[in-house]
Amino acid sequence: MIVENQRETFAKALQQAKTVGVLTGAGLSAESGVPTFQDPENGLWQNHNPEEVATYEGFEKDPDNVWQWYRTARQRISSVKPNQGHQVLARLSQRLPNLKLITQNIDGLHQTAGHEGVIEFHGNINENWCSRSGATVSVDNMSDQAPACPNCGHLVRPGVVWYGETINKDLIEQSFDIAKECDLFVTVGTSSMVSPAATLIYHALSENAQFAEINPQPTIFSHKASWTFRLGASQALRDIEKLV
Ligand code: NAD
Repeated sequence: MIVENQRETFAKALQQAKTVGVLTGAGLSAESGVPTFQDPENGLWQNHNPEEVATYEGFEKDPDNVWQWYRTARQRISSVKPNQGHQVLARLSQRLPNLKLITQNIDGLHQTAGHEGVIEFHGNINENWCSRSGATVSVDNMSDQAPACPNCGHLVRPGVVWYGETINKDLIEQSFDIAKECDLFVTVGTSSMVSPAATLIYHALSENAQFAEINPQPTIFSHKASWTFRLGASQALRDIEKLV
């Protein structure tokens, strides 16, 4: 439960905020069974070097290896369901139309929970992009090898942002606008170590937004937070829903 002395002030901030920015990360989906990078039991990354399967260089070197790794990840994620944390955020967005959600997660669970208008900062594992133009293309996600783009014949890659790649310009702009405009910025289940997503927190703080963190563990931004909810995401969000 959210401790009593945080409840009243946070309820007030939530109710009074004109815009609430929310940044979610892997910790939220961990409660659905999608492992975080730091999870010691992390079967997804075990025996796989991120440089091989999560960089463009790795894809250029061995596109089929990367494609097959994502095929396995897609299969695993297809059986995963949104948890109460995703559901509370979807409901809150209906009640607070100025709640703007940015997610670093690529699993699509916010949308499955019925959340509309989600900014997917790092893409979506179920999408595919042409490796030449970057356009979203429709191909068979379960094919054995990296398929050819139906428009130009170049290889198709999974629709996620890899290490060393830049985020889509429109998404960056939308996200930074939210961080700059919001009165309250809330992070949920993110280590706040991955940039540029983490720099959104700096932008929100520099424009005098109040900041709340939901994470069982402290992060490098905890000392900047007006509220630190040391709870799992679902528990904290269920408590928060009762405040509005
Ligand atoms: P991270 O793995 O760096 O950090 C996860 C954070 O979640 C940690 O700080 C941890 O203390 C916290 N956490 C663990 N259990 C929690 C719970 N029950 N409730 C709330 N918080 C909890 O994740 P990140 O900050 O999102 O950054 C990692 C990158 O990895 C992101 O770019 C993301 O795209 C990618 N990623 C995505 C997924 C996914 O789509 N589900 C999974 C793994 C990694």
